[in-house]
Amino acid sequence: MTVGDGQADDQDDTGGSPAERKMRFLFALRSRGIIDPRVLGAMEAIDRGHFVRGHFAARAYDDVPLPISCGQTISQPSVVALMTQALSVNPRDTVLEVGTGSGYQAAILAQLARRVYTVDRHRRLVREAAQVFSALDLTNITALTADGSRGLPDQAPFDRIIVTAAAEDPPGPLLAQLKIGGIMVIPVGQSDAVQSLIKVVRNEDGFDYQELRQVRFVPLVEGIGTD
Ligand code: SAH
Repeated sequence: MTVGDGQADDQDDTGGSPAERKMRFLFALRSRGIIDPRVLGAMEAIDRGHFVRGHFAARAYDDVPLPISCGQTISQPSVVALMTQALSVNPRDTVLEVGTGSGYQAAILAQLARRVYTVDRHRRLVREAAQVFSALDLTNITALTADGSRGLPDQAPFDRIIVTAAAEDPPGPLLAQLKIGGIMVIPVGQSDAVQSLIKVVRNEDGFDYQELRQVRFVPLVEGIGTD
């Protein structure tokens, strides 16, 4: 890994040492409304540079989404932080993430939860993310290739579910796999339009829905990919 490894000579042309870069990164999150100290601590602990490859690594600390393998994207850090904050993860929680992508969001969740299951429809993304998890010794993440729109019935129910690809509606199997008292955060809407990030809370009588903000995610696609 070349970025954020704490070497004194690890300067880049966007200016500053790794420590200064980290301070700017956290300041940007705070200015975007991220106030939960546990979320800020997790964002500080996990270096986004590990999850971005090639020449995009130089932009790992900018608040922008970046391309990853299989035509997918790593979300922008402020959106990762906002979704994590909205999920209100407790230390004993079991979390399902649909859309492993680079693995960055799962790594953040792994700082806050007891166990994280993360699934992606692209085998290659799961393999690459699992390599980073093991390099970072994040042993409480299980990464699997699966169609996450069906959830993960063998491990259900979940305390928290986060979907990092946009569905037209929250998939029924995911709602069914949420515990009573559980929370799901998911972008909903057409893939080619602006979508709404919503928070779903399951209570004794059904589900409460709250709209958080507008977002733009790649689509949730059914079935397993070919790579
Ligand atoms: N959370 C990721 C970003 C995810 S991008 C990160 O932190 O980097 C969205 C991901 O959702 C893509 O990798 C895409 O392959 C995946 N995806 C789309 N439809 C899916 C489905 N039905 N099941 C599982 N993963 C899916």
